[in-house]
Amino acid sequence: AFDLGLADFEKPKLNFASVGGMEALKEEIRMKIMYPLQHAELFKAYDKKVGGGVLLYGPPGCGKTLISKATAGEIKANFIALGLHQILDMWIGNSEKNMHEVFELARKNAPCVLFFDEVDALAADRRDLRQSAGRNLINQFLSEMDGADSQNDGVLILGATNAPWHIDPAFRRPGRFDRTLFVPPPDEVGRASIIEVMAEKKPIGQLDPRALAKKTPEFSGADLKAVFDLATEEVLTEAMKNGKVVPLTTKDLIKAASRHKPTTKAWFESA
Ligand code: ATP
Repeated sequence: AFDLGLADFEKPKLNFASVGGMEALKEEIRMKIMYPLQHAELFKAYDKKVGGGVLLYGPPGCGKTLISKATAGEIKANFIALGLHQILDMWIGNSEKNMHEVFELARKNAPCVLFFDEVDALAADRRDLRQSAGRNLINQFLSEMDGADSQNDGVLILGATNAPWHIDPAFRRPGRFDRTLFVPPPDEVGRASIIEVMAEKKPIGQLDPRALAKKTPEFSGADLKAVFDLATEEVLTEAMKNGKVVPLTTKDLIKAASRHKPTTKAWFESA
């Protein structure tokens, strides 16, 4: 194995159970990505094409990275993640070769989920990028995705973006990111499940996930994590005074939530 320096490589332990809510999205990912592996013969019988990538979009902090990693965990695949901003900044000169190597690494480690964060950094319809060396990198990326002679078998490509409307249509052709899925902010039921997942590792007094979910409209998963962090700090301060564990309660969490400003609203306003 070699070290790309920028790519994270791992075999995730986390699976769909670690991701609260997102039921519809989980099922779409199963259909596009998991069932074709698990029921290859049936898909063939219906001449149902497999392969291609899925582009996830939505406000920040709503779980695009998390669900991608959990997808790998769910099918016991390897997971390679890299941010395309970093690539553009740091791979200058060598970027096509490095891009090829990332895909090769994924192919050698199939089944593998290859996750590209900030796809818009590369795929945005930006003239500056097209006129410069970026053009070659874009072409390299597209031809790697096209994957001649089913060379990408067992490689599941996921991309994430906050700004899908900036994506060059060339990236959306069949066999590339041919499906675009919205990862919305969690609704009340989704937030309650996220809260349950987050509470699992905490000493909890009484927890009413629905009550906290009600008090946190427009909160993303990342916002809820911030609420747990804030409440944990408060309770820890008290625990240190007493020298013993003080359980975290719904009240502590609701109080912390009132001090946190949710981040999804700004995305919808700018979108
Ligand atoms: P960005 O667009 O900023 O890259 P993202 O959509 O990829 O954001 P993640 O990085 O996946 O968001 O989520 C941030 C954190 O929020 C996660 O690490 C996790 O702690 C929490 N989180 C988000 N959604 C969920 C969820 N559905 N269940 C549990 N935790 C969640």
